[in-house]
Amino acid sequence: LTLEQIKADGKIIMATNAGFPPFEYIKDNAEAGVDVDIAAEIAKDLGVELQVDDMDFNAIIPAVQNGKATFGAAGMTVNEERKQQVDFSIEYVKSAQYVIIAKGSGTTVDSLKEAGVKIGVQEGTTGQFYATGEDIKNDEASEDVLSYENALIAAQDLMNGRVSAVIIDKLPAESIVAANPDKLELIPEALTEESYAICVKKGNTELLDAINATLTRLIEEGKIDEFVINHTAA
Ligand code: GLN
Repeated sequence: LTLEQIKADGKIIMATNAGFPPFEYIKDNAEAGVDVDIAAEIAKDLGVELQVDDMDFNAIIPAVQNGKATFGAAGMTVNEERKQQVDFSIEYVKSAQYVIIAKGSGTTVDSLKEAGVKIGVQEGTTGQFYATGEDIKNDEASEDVLSYENALIAAQDLMNGRVSAVIIDKLPAESIVAANPDKLELIPEALTEESYAICVKKGNTELLDAINATLTRLIEEGKIDEFVINHTAA
């Protein structure tokens, strides 16, 4: 897809998973969030309309690969496996995995390693890889790790007592705890170091250059921090 084709189409399509506040969530029946604001700036710089397609997190990379989406923007962590499948923009946010637990439960990171202690994660995410990886369950197929369509549903099961913890990225974790302060709390410890980037179909360098130009501008203008603050207050 060349920029010429994109401009002729008059629109770009962002693939995302809108259960990941403050990066993407549903507000007044529409997708909102930091990534939506960034995508709107990319569309503005290209002089086209933005369409947002909400889908399972696992469906985002396939949608980018088969051209149903112009790019994926979903608080997506850059990792080696994904780099084989798509090309990534410059990194625009630093993040980490955190653990949400039931308030006052005393659940520790160490206790999550025990057999039978259930952990909720979002399907296909770095939180799932961490929970099933060597630091926690050390079993890719662990039945103790329950995967959910999005973090908000996983948090419901934590409040229902069906899981003992949810492992999810820092700002979504903080946002979920802030929405349920009587029931949930965060273990104040970063388990990983990660960075987010936007993904495009492999080899789509012209589009990637345009996305990087917008991201660079937004970073220089301090806009991304501003978007985070705006969507955290909401
Ligand atoms: N950053 C995590 C990942 O890339 C989670 C992203 C998400 O759930 N939207 O796997």
